[in-house]
Amino acid sequence: MGAKGWFILKLLMFQGLFISHSQEDFDFFYLVLQWPGAYCDTKRSCCYPTSGKPAADFGIHGLWPNYKDGSYPSNCDPDSEFDKSQITDLVSSLKKKWPTLACPSNEGFKFWEHEWEKHGTCSQSVMDQHDYFDNSLKLRDKANLLQILTNSGIKPDDGFYDLIKIRNAIKDAIGFTPGIECNKDPERNDQLHQIYICVDTSGTEFIECPVLPRGRCPSQLQFAKF
Ligand code: 5GP
Ligand code: 5GP
Repeated sequence: MGAKGWFILKLLMFQGLFISHSQEDFDFFYLVLQWPGAYCDTKRSCCYPTSGKPAADFGIHGLWPNYKDGSYPSNCDPDSEFDKSQITDLVSSLKKKWPTLACPSNEGFKFWEHEWEKHGTCSQSVMDQHDYFDNSLKLRDKANLLQILTNSGIKPDDGFYDLIKIRNAIKDAIGFTPGIECNKDPERNDQLHQIYICVDTSGTEFIECPVLPRGRCPSQLQFAKF
């Protein structure tokens, strides 16, 4: 091979290297939103964050990179520690929209740190820590789940609602079928616990889910008061 050939070969190899590094190492995200009433019922008790009882609205659980076969990466980079100073502009929104309900009461940084370390570190090829939290907040606002459900007469009043109606209300509003996850409260009522919405690899647009989580929901479920 002549000098020109080698040069082109090296160029191609370098490009291959570059592409493989800039490519995402996951297929999509789940935006997972939790209903606080269900979390608190399941745990019998929960602890409100130090800022007080959160609004009766869906809060963020996490933005989780996932593979389309249903498996997922986790804890991808122990060197990328959670750094509060990168999200100072987001803290007041995080407290409202990503509240922690775990005990003992705390401000929320532990929950955010856990989600960053377990899930966020696996999406660093597309977003840094600030954008991981910023994108999650924007996606939650875009989904506007409580409004969608309320508009369809589905309210957090301890009433029982058809799984199909809940799913369709969300599908009609956002354009894509959500995953719906239930839990049982101590009286063994099946409750609406979490809603999964799929997001593209840029972390900004909703997409049809390549794979839905198994939700353990019966045909009718309780929308717990909070
Ligand atoms: P659980 O066993 O309560 O459903 O899930 C425990 C934790 O495992 C979740 O909070 C989440 O961090 C992780 N996890 C469970 N299912 C999934 C999934 O389908 N995708 C991803 N990315 N993480 C999951
Ligand atoms: P995952 O289930 O995402 O792996 O982990 C959730 C972790 O965050 C658990 O260790 C849990 O105690 C903690 N955590 C703190 N606040 C909350 C909350 O409001 N909801 C959930 N699901 N977990 C929380």
